[in-house]
Amino acid sequence: KNVKQIRNFAIIAHIDHGKSTLADRIMELTDTISEREQSDQLLDDLQVEQAHGVTVKSRTVTNEYQAGDGQKYELNFIDTPGHVDFAYEVSRSMSACEGAILLVDATKGVQAQTVANFRLAKAAGLAIIPVINKVDSQSAEVDRVESQIHNLDELLKDEKILKISAKTGLGVPEVLEAIVDKISAPTADDGDELKALVFDSNYDQYKGIVALVRVVSGNLTKQRQLRLMANQTDFNAGEVGILTPDKNPQDSLIAGEVGYIITGIKDPQKVRIGDTITYAEAPAKVTLPGYESSEPVVFAGLYPDESSYADLKLAVEKVALNDPAFHYREEVSDALGPGFRCGFLGGFHLQIIRERLVDEYGVSVLTTSPNVTYHVTTSDGQALTVENPGQFPDFSEVQYVEEPFVRATISTPNELLSEVMKLAEQYKGELDDLQDNNGLIDAIYNMPLSEIAFEFFNKLKSVSHGYATLSSKMIGYRVADMVQVDVRINYADVDSLAFVTHRLDAPKQTQELVHKLKYTIPRKLYPMPVQAMVEGKAIARVDVPPLRKNAAVSGDKKSVSKKQALLRRQNINKRKAAQNDIKLPQSVFNAILEVH
Ligand code: GDP
Ligand code: MG
Repeated sequence: KNVKQIRNFAIIAHIDHGKSTLADRIMELTDTISEREQSDQLLDDLQVEQAHGVTVKSRTVTNEYQAGDGQKYELNFIDTPGHVDFAYEVSRSMSACEGAILLVDATKGVQAQTVANFRLAKAAGLAIIPVINKVDSQSAEVDRVESQIHNLDELLKDEKILKISAKTGLGVPEVLEAIVDKISAPTADDGDELKALVFDSNYDQYKGIVALVRVVSGNLTKQRQLRLMANQTDFNAGEVGILTPDKNPQDSLIAGEVGYIITGIKDPQKVRIGDTITYAEAPAKVTLPGYESSEPVVFAGLYPDESSYADLKLAVEKVALNDPAFHYREEVSDALGPGFRCGFLGGFHLQIIRERLVDEYGVSVLTTSPNVTYHVTTSDGQALTVENPGQFPDFSEVQYVEEPFVRATISTPNELLSEVMKLAEQYKGELDDLQDNNGLIDAIYNMPLSEIAFEFFNKLKSVSHGYATLSSKMIGYRVADMVQVDVRINYADVDSLAFVTHRLDAPKQTQELVHKLKYTIPRKLYPMPVQAMVEGKAIARVDVPPLRKNAAVSGDKKSVSKKQALLRRQNINKRKAAQNDIKLPQSVFNAILEVH
């Protein structure tokens, strides 16, 4: 093997522009997969990815390619996720590459994630190969899109742009040649100290943790004692190899190569993405720079539903293993018992984690309504960060509250601008600027994160028929008039149902909420009042109707004493319920999100 014959590359694109399709075509052209193995979008094999049609976890595949110059090359494709919530993983995967294919859909043109991913690739110093996809489509506008790409950046101004159809395969051989020509071979670091960067990892039920690495310097040979430098954990590399796309064992991986190591380690905490692997008997002196950790912006409680706490804990640890952006810590809720308070990159990330827990680990899980964090300054001057609305300080102790704000850029075709602006204002967006962006309009808003983090993205897709795109970044905290809403069922606070909202929205939201709860809270033999409390006052109330006729109000001809006996029993029941023996279904937590 020769490092000169290696190319490590990513494909970056907006969602649906054809990245998975192109990856499949490349594997097919290089005979990485045979005709028989081909199924649509082989790489999107996590169930959640197939369900949502987007890539969540990055994939790595080594393709052996016989180039036009007569030489054999090893083309290592490193997949990157395409959703706005995952920019962090995109830059992580890119750091294992020297180049990227910038793929743009000829029918849609440059969109928000095209721009965002391009900037990440440029910042990472990658060689960029611009490619227009879907030229076979009736609605392709190749010339328009070509000039959009040329105008995207100085770097692309005079670039030759390849035009392909990933679907039919037209032009794809030229893409392979461009990868060889335009992307440089990896440069091996000086010295023969082994340093391999862990850029991804996953859990194999039988083999333990499999680490995906890029060897930065030295030779990684199998059957030697290796060391994870962050926590000085030693292990034997039972097997090393490349992914083609299944595990393909090799004797060694050379500097510049990308592959896997079966670590045999079972404890997910030990193998950290961003860590450096070296030889135990000849360790490297310094670690590789690794990755900056990402800050979660959305939080929710995860609690066992039908599963045991122990099963949920194991599943949470395993999911966190290959998703360092997912944060968790243990917490106990009065109503739900022991569980986890978890941090996510956004609402979609939360949904993906939830589905992975269910699909990949078979646990049944309750997620409380997600929230953002608030900064609360108490009357005695203490600064608190509240990640759990149930732990919001009592209103009598609150001096002021600050909520997180984002700067959101919505790119939309001009003719949809007024619809988009109407929506953004409904979600408390303050328009800051309107800019022309290659025939699209960029509407730039300052918005509370709590407004944009959950339903907004779906609403935007629907008012713009999928044409508007959104990107946002945190700009800090601002003082806002927020209140905590406590939900009481049968006169007892249910901590896991508390939420924080803008004071002005509270009356309408709580009315809506209690009416939804009327039909989602499991009924008991007696009517149960549901109250939404703000600052100690009930501002909305309904009664969950009883399962059976209520003795106290029924017209049965019963003696007064019998009725009183029944009432007494109902009162005892009430008190029991007040100790929270009501089992809340997921729909109750969803109701809170729906009224936001
Ligand atoms: P990704 O989200 O970037 O991975 O995009 P996919 O590869 O999943 O493709 C999104 C959709 O575009 C799928 O329905 C593909 O079949 C379709 N598609 C991909 N490439 C082409 C192409 O070259 N021509 C046409 N007409 N459709 C394509
Ligand atoms: Mg895809």
